[in-house]
Amino acid sequence: MISKVYSAVIKGIDALPVTIETDIVRGMPDITITGLADATVKEAAVRVRAAIINSGYTFPLGRISINIAPAGVRKKGSVLDLGLAVGILAASGQIPEKELSGYMFAGELSLDGSVCAVKGILNITEKACAAGRSIIVPEENSIEASVVRGAAVLPAGSLEEVTRHLTHALEIKPAAGSFMTGDGRRVRQETVDFADVKGQENAKRALLIAAAGGHGVLMTGSPSTGKTMLAERLPGIMPPMSYEEIIKTTEIYSAAGLLSGEMPYIMERPFRRPHHSVTEAGLIGGGTVPRPGEITLASGGILFLDEFAEMDPRVTDALREPLERKKISFIRQGETYTFPADFLLVAASNPCRCGYYGDPSGRCICTPGEVARYRQKLSGPLLDRIDIHLDLKGVAYSDLTGKAGMSTAEMREMVVQARRVQRARFGDVMTVLNSGMTDRMAEEMSYIDEEGERLLGRAYDAFGLSPRVLGKTVRVARTIADIAGKERVDAGDIAEALQYSRWEHNGNKDNNQRER
Ligand SMILES: [Zn+2]
Repeated sequence: MISKVYSAVIKGIDALPVTIETDIVRGMPDITITGLADATVKEAAVRVRAAIINSGYTFPLGRISINIAPAGVRKKGSVLDLGLAVGILAASGQIPEKELSGYMFAGELSLDGSVCAVKGILNITEKACAAGRSIIVPEENSIEASVVRGAAVLPAGSLEEVTRHLTHALEIKPAAGSFMTGDGRRVRQETVDFADVKGQENAKRALLIAAAGGHGVLMTGSPSTGKTMLAERLPGIMPPMSYEEIIKTTEIYSAAGLLSGEMPYIMERPFRRPHHSVTEAGLIGGGTVPRPGEITLASGGILFLDEFAEMDPRVTDALREPLERKKISFIRQGETYTFPADFLLVAASNPCRCGYYGDPSGRCICTPGEVARYRQKLSGPLLDRIDIHLDLKGVAYSDLTGKAGMSTAEMREMVVQARRVQRARFGDVMTVLNSGMTDRMAEEMSYIDEEGERLLGRAYDAFGLSPRVLGKTVRVARTIADIAGKERVDAGDIAEALQYSRWEHNGNKDNNQRER
């Protein structure tokens, strides 16, 4: 008798539904599994056989042939164990075959028959839900699986429980409903607040603009200027995640195996801060079977690259493609793996090797040549793609004792408001944020008033700006106007945006300026 069981495997981040067909005929005891990677077959056969016997069932004598469809997809991992065992038990008449079509099975089996946690359960549950099937998952994964709205999630601790459920000897209770109610939002519990940052109101303003329009930021300043303190507070002013964003982000962490009982889903925007010695594979992703890198784990949130000038330029250069495409693809053995990489880039650097160039204390011990060489590392094609360049100054004593400036809650409110305006303007077609405007969109949808255009033209001529810098200035100015709720971008907005352009800070000509 042939049994048919539904399961799924993880490929990169996506789940691929598969069908397990099992046939048992008389003959020399033997088990062949087709459609699986070689090493995986042997290991799965050993686990499944032991789990069936140790759960008190009969491992059938005869020739067992198992086919996992579709063919041509490399299926690896232990997630199929439970489905394989159920298939054998059904093909040998120990479970009624007709019970199986309503279920999807996912879980690793240990030799004693317990069902162990697997990676990517959220993604697999979505596929089960879309196919209208209930899903039997490892107990440990059940909260994660319950994130999917409308899914019927049945948590199982052992193969015996699953078998007894399918033979109606007991009933596995569905996991308690989804963790989210209402529109899925939750008030963020901030442990840090922008109100704690004294005397850096200009920097806070720049970060507000960055969060509102999705503009990348480079902060340059000595160690005492609080670059890290500022960056750490940025997630707090980002808008709350929508249900779809929570699912998308949790899928990534689920597939990467980074969720746990304490953190079964991701409800807050990621804040990733890899060390400056991170490798290209660590940052971008990769490997023989591609794994997501920091850029994918930061998707929907913030990628903070501290000590940017100390990073290997080959590693940072690899950021260019994902910054533009908001995703990254790898091709391995003819198969394409695509991961999301839609993050807000925040880079930070000292202004020179010793860290104190330009500091009022005059502590810098670098020679002018050393300073120039160091600053050279803060230029190049990647940094051209960062909209906001911010020079941080030390904080004056009078600012430290002054009253608190903008708080996280106030700033977040402004970000949410500005994003609402952008969504209304773009209608979600090409982009929802000003930073994503193409040059053409920037031209057509920035609505700069006459005086603004005049100032822009004067700056372009006087400073020899490149078209790229001009475009960045327009995008940032549009965000500044959106924060203020203005329909037209005026000269004041343009002037403020010009402050964040690159040319102003270096004081000398760099590759952002036209040859003259
Ligand atoms: Zn120095």
